[in-house]
Amino acid sequence: MSQVRTRFAPSPTGFMHLGGVRTALYAYLFAKKNGGKFILRIEDTDQERFVEGATEVIYDTLRDCGILWDEGPDIGGDYGPYIQSERKSLYLPYAQELVEKGAAYYCFCTKEELDERRAAAEARGEVFKYDKHCLGLSKEEVQAKLDAGVPYVIRMNAPTEGSTSYHDLVFGEMTFPNSDTMDDMVLIKQDGMPTYNFANVIDDHLMGITHVMRGVEYLSSTPRYNFLYNAFGWEIPEYIHLTTVMRDATHKLSKRDGDAYYSDFIAKGYLKDALVNYLALVGWNPGTDQEFFNMDELVQAFDVKHLNKSPGIFDVNKLDWMNGQYVQKMDFERYLQMATPWFDQALAGRGVDYRRLAELMQSRTDIFSRIPEKIQFLAQMPDYDPAIFFNKKQKSDENVAREVLPLLIPVLEGIEDWTEQNIHDTVMAVIPQWGKKNGQVLWPMRISISGLESTPGGAFEIAYLLGKQETLRRMRSSLEKLG
Ligand code: GLU
Repeated sequence: MSQVRTRFAPSPTGFMHLGGVRTALYAYLFAKKNGGKFILRIEDTDQERFVEGATEVIYDTLRDCGILWDEGPDIGGDYGPYIQSERKSLYLPYAQELVEKGAAYYCFCTKEELDERRAAAEARGEVFKYDKHCLGLSKEEVQAKLDAGVPYVIRMNAPTEGSTSYHDLVFGEMTFPNSDTMDDMVLIKQDGMPTYNFANVIDDHLMGITHVMRGVEYLSSTPRYNFLYNAFGWEIPEYIHLTTVMRDATHKLSKRDGDAYYSDFIAKGYLKDALVNYLALVGWNPGTDQEFFNMDELVQAFDVKHLNKSPGIFDVNKLDWMNGQYVQKMDFERYLQMATPWFDQALAGRGVDYRRLAELMQSRTDIFSRIPEKIQFLAQMPDYDPAIFFNKKQKSDENVAREVLPLLIPVLEGIEDWTEQNIHDTVMAVIPQWGKKNGQVLWPMRISISGLESTPGGAFEIAYLLGKQETLRRMRSSLEKLG
């Protein structure tokens, strides 16, 4: 069997959709698993949809994810160019070959003529399909129009009867009646550019693609492509159609909900490794209970047999959980580096010891964008209800706080070197002298300076992070609040 060659063929129309990242990932995994090649092809023949900079976004996203291509526009390869607009001149001769074979024909109908016939068909309650009007032109008539420079398109001469069957590696045997799925689609547009419908066939063939992986929306277009392959006498590739990535049973991931694009998730502080790991599992399963995979492990485990037929649900809660697991395991220095801009959002310029804060926050971070809200209390004392001084287990309440805080303030004032260790040792030394349980001092201490029942770190850590002055200021104002 020839070497496996898969491709990812995005159109540069904006940001990278998560569904696209997943398609690229599966095509990459399949190629690597089979010792094959993964090709990147940019499909920019629809110039109206082209967005400046979108090709770079595709490169950056795939590289970021570790989905690396063996051949592509920026690195070349034996089958280039890999940008369709740069291949423009090679498509027309193929379309002309089909014309000679009777599988395609020139069409000179103007937009106005087509609009008129479409309107008439709709008035009759029919769906307009191109009516093969120009198929009736004689060879001489066609040549005369071409010589006169009349604008034209080239259309496929689609069969109107019978049906087309093919085998899909995920969906199995597919059969479509030709009258439903075929029409005389345009192959070459007036501007000389091929349509996607034509270019994908030519390019997949010329680039030696053995397995075409793409979205399930192409399932019913495939008979048209097979018609073209057959007309050329070319081998039809294997097809692997992938289900849509959904937010839930009825909703797609959407731009409006901010959950469609790879960059949205990175901006929210998700880790790319977690995102890639999770995406792999949306629509595919390893056939075992294993959930955590790095790229090499995904390559090893990947098997088309375990691609799902039903839409993949992208469960953000599951992703959050998985991301948290990755955060916990990440190298501390990297965590500190990634967390710093998020610390800054809440604490810039306050001189908080970020290293210590990072030690406390790493195990409490699921996604980075939630860090600022969790540490906001260090920037500003929350307006809290004094009822939270009550804690049964710690034997604390407002009265205990009224008694303990005035004792604590001078003790803390006396600490010269405000280290966490000194705060700890000094406070722990006085608690027995006051005849109190630890909780009866530490609970009011922490509440009085954080205003929160639960905080990252205990009383000593918080006091240290706040600094001496701020700790004392907060304690005094809490005492005032207690009255
Ligand atoms: N350019 C097409 C798209 O972005 C590619 C589909 C295919 O893989 O053939 O949907």
